Amino acid sequence: MTELSHQKALHDLHGQLGLLENLDVGLAILDKEFRVTFWNSFMANHSGISQAQIQGQSLFGHFKDLDTQWFRRKLNSVLGLHNPAFMTWEERPWLFRFKSYRPITGNTPWMFQNITLLPLADAKGEVNQIGLILYDVTDEAVSRQALKNANLELSQLSRTDHLTGLHNRGYWEQCLEQEYERFIRTQQPTTLVMLDIDHFKQVNDTYGHLAGDAVLRFISDIIRQMIRSTDIAGRFGGEEFGILLPNTPSSNAEILAERLRYAIETRPIRHEDEQLLITISLGIAAADSAYLDYKSWLDQADQALYQAKENGRNQFVTC
Ligand code: GH3
Ligand code: MG
Ligand code: MG
Repeated sequence: MTELSHQKALHDLHGQLGLLENLDVGLAILDKEFRVTFWNSFMANHSGISQAQIQGQSLFGHFKDLDTQWFRRKLNSVLGLHNPAFMTWEERPWLFRFKSYRPITGNTPWMFQNITLLPLADAKGEVNQIGLILYDVTDEAVSRQALKNANLELSQLSRTDHLTGLHNRGYWEQCLEQEYERFIRTQQPTTLVMLDIDHFKQVNDTYGHLAGDAVLRFISDIIRQMIRSTDIAGRFGGEEFGILLPNTPSSNAEILAERLRYAIETRPIRHEDEQLLITISLGIAAADSAYLDYKSWLDQADQALYQAKENGRNQFVTC
């Protein structure tokens, strides 16, 4: 390229930069030492640093909260490999800590950013500069996060029993199947406790359905209070509950069963002006690799529960 055409190319570039000046994206050009040679008005407006202030100076000197090590590595790879690099908000919400002025954000004061780094070849084909393009993707990020939260809420709702707040039957059974598979892999003792309210029909018949519901909530609260965070409790049927106890042999499950039985027997349940006393029966079954599948495990616990009822209720039976 002749000197004249080189001059012309430079002149054209400046013309293009003038055009880019007014784009609604951030644009900066850095030299090999990461000094700023171009800084458009978007960058100036959001950073509060004008082109004149930053021109010829190191980018890192002006932005103390840049992740210097990480960003330098990116820049060096663009210079070294002559390939563009992309950074998305999912990887890192922002590179430059710019305030977000979007009214919808509320919880996010900083602008979410996608960044593109481009190797800029000079007239001789040598890469001596890097172009940095910054896109404000706050709207996209915020709506994506809102969608994610809504989905999470929805999936939680679809797993929850509305009356008791415990897992519903569908989800709890899914957990049971998973725990059984885990047991087969790890052979860690895992125990299942099924419990059923004694003579619950009488509660409904005597005090009404709302009293029955209050009893169901009371039992669920006690279960929640007494189990560990790793245990998994669900409402299995109308007045039947299942508790999965991972890493627990049946001897320890019996201790929990007795605590539950005793707590429920001795704590009166207040409903309107009435005080109700309730008992429960429990069936306990440890997972066993001899079972065909998780359903046989459930069946064993159910049979133990039936036995507890047969034996006079208000007790647990281990199969
Ligand atoms: P047992 O001691 O043998 O368990 O007797 P039980 O009366 O508890 O058992 P049974 O299976 O005969 O009755 C269960 C009752 O649970 C029938 C139904 O009225 C009641 N029930 C089921 N779901 C609900 C509910 O969501 N709310 C209320 N209030 N009652 C329910
Ligand atoms: Mg019952
Ligand atoms: Mg029942």
